[in-house]
Amino acid sequence: MMTPPEHDAREAVLNARFQAWSTAAAFIVTTMGTVVLVGWVLGSETLKRVEPGLPAMNPATAIGFILSGFALALLRESDLTPGRRMAAQLLGMFVFTVGTAKIAGTMAGVDLGLDSILFRPDVIMTHSGVADRMAPSSALIFMLFGLALVYFGGQSRLTHRLSQVCSTLGTVLSLIPLTGYLYGAPALQRFASLTPMAMHAAISFVVLGTGLLIAPGTQGIKLVSRADQGGAIVRRFFPSIVGTILALGYLSLQGQRAGWFAPQFGAALMAVGTIVALAALLWWNAGVISRADRRRLAVEAALQLSESALRAANEALALQVRTDSLTMVRNRMALDEELLRAIQNLHRYEAEIFSVLMIDVDYFKRYNDTFGHLAGDDVLREAARLLETTCRTTDIVGRYGGEEFTIILPHTTEQGSREIAERLRATVDRHSWPHAPITVSIGVATASPATVDADEILNEADVALYLAKQNGRNRVYHALDTALPAEA
Ligand code: GH3
Ligand code: MG
Ligand code: MG
Repeated sequence: MMTPPEHDAREAVLNARFQAWSTAAAFIVTTMGTVVLVGWVLGSETLKRVEPGLPAMNPATAIGFILSGFALALLRESDLTPGRRMAAQLLGMFVFTVGTAKIAGTMAGVDLGLDSILFRPDVIMTHSGVADRMAPSSALIFMLFGLALVYFGGQSRLTHRLSQVCSTLGTVLSLIPLTGYLYGAPALQRFASLTPMAMHAAISFVVLGTGLLIAPGTQGIKLVSRADQGGAIVRRFFPSIVGTILALGYLSLQGQRAGWFAPQFGAALMAVGTIVALAALLWWNAGVISRADRRRLAVEAALQLSESALRAANEALALQVRTDSLTMVRNRMALDEELLRAIQNLHRYEAEIFSVLMIDVDYFKRYNDTFGHLAGDDVLREAARLLETTCRTTDIVGRYGGEEFTIILPHTTEQGSREIAERLRATVDRHSWPHAPITVSIGVATASPATVDADEILNEADVALYLAKQNGRNRVYHALDTALPAEA
């Protein structure tokens, strides 16, 4: 699968290639027109009509090709300045006008003298039986291509579409006389009994039309130079379809003419050949697209997988930075966040009352000193587990630091917080500890809408804790008790 930069680079290469082809087409038709004009000057029948007996390319038609070719060459996308566009549009307008005048003259049955603009009428008219006039079909295609050049790469959607339609229609119309020559069907070389189109005119029109359609600047058929699957299909299908069908038709016709087989056989050959060729093309393309699709799906699945793995890793990390590694309860950072949230909630909804417990292990230094730091760690872990299992799951237990724990009790009033604190104290007291009894002192504070911030309520709980220590440890004090005289 292509990465976006690879895709852009490939598209740039394709654009450059189609631009080169378009410029080559411009060069071919300009040269063709010039050669035919030279033929008229020199009186060369070969240059005028390829083979004796075939219709000649009229000088006006030759001029039309020279001007159209110039216009197409001017419209190179890479250096398309407003001046160049304007010049190309003027040339296109001229070609359109000549075509229109010829058509109008033919319909009105008036000879405007267009067929003999460069050469005397008798030079143009002398050919036995057939006047080498500009074919009305050529005039019609010049009208279309002239308009396509005027609105080349049109600024508005409408003119852009108009230019595309004109190029496409002109190219299709020029395919009719071309196949007429390829298959030797004179009826296809002309409209009704009107002047037929010269063979090299038919070829030049197809070349010019193709040049208009594939030029990157026109976005005639922008799809051809796309680096995606759509562009690839057009590039694979279009030339193969046109080539296969034209070639099969030619072979079938030649076979019948040579007497190798009857028309029925020729038609069957054409049908079967077309089916086989198109089916092979279709299968091949479907395979390419199907493989690309599966690759894309696999990449998407892998992407999705790594995305969810990343999300999980992020969540795990977020949890880890908020967890105390010794006791596995929340750490100071997580507690600060929870406390801030609780205060903000309380400020917004007055009913969101909460209380805070500050729990400190009594004489812990002594315990450490006596039984060692590792035994002290065990006590901290066990204390955290006891606290967590004793309070409600909605209560927020964390280690504030050292041997101090903090619990936030949502929706808990002074009365409730005293009860929970007492239950916790008693649970620790009753627990059978490995080396020596452990007790905790607890300071309680209950927030009110008047509580300014987290520091304020922590401070109140701390003062209550201090009082609990002062009054003998292994007891609970509420911040409201601090106003009372200390117990003896
Ligand atoms: P009080 O009853 O007044 O609270 O006495 P105390 O000894 O608990 O008070 P103090 O604050 O003087 O001592 C706290 C001790 O907690 C000091 C330190 O050795 C211990 N401590 C702090 N953090 C840890 C820890 O992570 N692991 C262990 N094992 N001990 C710790
Ligand atoms: Mg302490
Ligand atoms: Mg202590």
